[in-house]
Amino acid sequence: MSGSVPQAVVLLGVPVHPVTMDEAVERVHALLRGGGSHLVVTLNAPMLGRAARDEAYRRVVQAAALVTPDGMGTLLVGRILGRRLPERVAGVDLADRLCALCAREGFRVFFLGASPGVAEAAAARLRERHPGLPVAGTAHGYFSPAEEPGIVDRIRAARTDLLLVALGAPRQEFWLAAHLARTGARVGMGVGGTFDVYAGRTRRSPPWLQRAGLEWLDRALREPRRWPVAAGIPGVLWLAVRARLAERLRLRRAPD
Ligand code: UDP
Repeated sequence: MSGSVPQAVVLLGVPVHPVTMDEAVERVHALLRGGGSHLVVTLNAPMLGRAARDEAYRRVVQAAALVTPDGMGTLLVGRILGRRLPERVAGVDLADRLCALCAREGFRVFFLGASPGVAEAAAARLRERHPGLPVAGTAHGYFSPAEEPGIVDRIRAARTDLLLVALGAPRQEFWLAAHLARTGARVGMGVGGTFDVYAGRTRRSPPWLQRAGLEWLDRALREPRRWPVAAGIPGVLWLAVRARLAERLRLRRAPD
């Protein structure tokens, strides 16, 4: 496959590419081989809600080379709006598949974000899983604005191909929009709490809960600080239902 992606579907004004995991990996592979610097967004339902409401965030997502549907909430919004999205392409799974690709092809990966020590532990774990993975460098995510130029320089000096940024949404996408080009990395992707998962600091939900689309609920129950974010999910679904009803009404009123 060439690494081209199907045209984005638009959910609540926000583009999402209807790709499978394999297609997403191929697309990133093509971006890593090509020129320029490109943003990849794995969009879960709270991020979709944020992008629908907040024009600045929406513009960042619209400028991304690839936006994958991360989570059952985004798939459900697609279903409500009658837009086909083939499967869930979650950041935590995509980052792992991309590390496998980078280990195979020799692309250099930089891990930026999470508490001190976590990015190193995540990189070490991923090197164990994917022997030979070229780790360009690691840096924690609790830096001041004054430290940013130094971090950008480190990422550039390390000849980074793939930059994984774990600062949480939406900060990681805004950070990448502002700094990615200067890092010289071919691809930048926000990965939320993924480093904590790889480093063994938080655990993923059991597979049956993931398959049932309830990982967000399980995580919210385990981590009460997530409640405000999880509470945004019904709001996004309601926005989708309203948009669908409005669309139907318009169609019914339109003259034949
Ligand atoms: N984080 C960071 N710097 C900050 C705030 C957060 O590096 O100033 C990290 C935090 O340690 C965690 C990640 O960003 O590893 C956010 O994870 P979370 O699960 O909240 O993100 P989500 O997946 O919900 O976007």
